Amino acid sequence: MIFNIEKLVRPHLLNFTPYQSARRIGGKGNIWLNANESPISIKYKFKNSNLNRYPESQPKNMILRYANYSKINPENVLATRGSDEGIDLLSRMFCIPEKDAIMIFPPTYDMYSIVANIMNVDVKEIPLLKDWNLDLLNLKLHMNNVKIIYLCRPNNPTGNCFSEKVIKKILKIAYKKAIVVVDEAYIEFCYDKNISSWLCNYSHLVILRTLSKAFSLAGLRCGFLLSNEKIIKMLSSIIPPYPISVSTSDIVEEALNKKNIYNIKKNVVLLNKNKNWLVKKLKSNILVKRIHDSDANYILAEFYHSDKVFNFLWNKGIIIRDQSKKMNLEGHLRISIGTRSECEELIESLNFLKF
Ligand SMILES: *Cc1c(COP(=O)(O)O)cnc(C)c1O
Repeated sequence: MIFNIEKLVRPHLLNFTPYQSARRIGGKGNIWLNANESPISIKYKFKNSNLNRYPESQPKNMILRYANYSKINPENVLATRGSDEGIDLLSRMFCIPEKDAIMIFPPTYDMYSIVANIMNVDVKEIPLLKDWNLDLLNLKLHMNNVKIIYLCRPNNPTGNCFSEKVIKKILKIAYKKAIVVVDEAYIEFCYDKNISSWLCNYSHLVILRTLSKAFSLAGLRCGFLLSNEKIIKMLSSIIPPYPISVSTSDIVEEALNKKNIYNIKKNVVLLNKNKNWLVKKLKSNILVKRIHDSDANYILAEFYHSDKVFNFLWNKGIIIRDQSKKMNLEGHLRISIGTRSECEELIESLNFLKF
């Protein structure tokens, strides 16, 4: 019995364009600077042998350790499969398909709109201003039906942090209307700017965290959603029953012990040093038109002949991220901060490129 299965699919999901992840884009590299991963691999041991039993839905010790690390209560923490699952849960909890909308500020992380598109929820785009700040005037004008506002801070790919003052203004505008989600995927690289202490003052604030970047655990798939107890309870009522595997919680507990957090902080200092070194070298390269300040573990730069630069590096096995097709980012490439020797190889290769 064979028939055209496409007739059964939700029409807007036929030929759906998936998230263009670094893995999907591919490349044959020996230097990977395209997914903002940590270049430093930390070895962890998996201890638990009780794989015949289901795990705790929200593993207590792991939650407790993350709460301690973030200086908040465990009731304010939900563990998810990467922060991407947090985005998915929020949309399903708060947005009614074909009625509600989310608001984003491009250029920014693509997953917010992709999840909304899958759900058939409208996406209102308020482009960032020329200085990468938020356009509050247009934001206010387009609040109709908006249920979730996504602020990425530091913003991927521009690298800047919106000011605390502006975020407080947005929380005020969204009061009784929408959830404000602050995605802190890269906050460890500028930790004094984290706003987790605000959670007790706002019933509509959600913070997304991940272990995929500074914690060197992109392969493990673990993130945390921080919010007030009410929102955490609601979201835990719709999360699948066993999102966190025993192996994941085992490794995360170890990753969040005192010694490891100390090491992570050391790695952050090291990567920030590499970033400053790389920025200095790029500034003196004739192919570089402009480099944007970054609070994260990547830099966004505008190049002359960015397509040639990208392909030249690609063919040399140095894989960076082309951002030139994104809103207002013509000629822009994003470079994740690697080890010092990886940064050096990038600079050496660029010095060979002449037109
Ligand atoms: C990398 C990244 C994430 C992390 O996603 P995970 O699912 O936790 O790996 C979230 N938000 C932004 C802006 C990112 O760049």
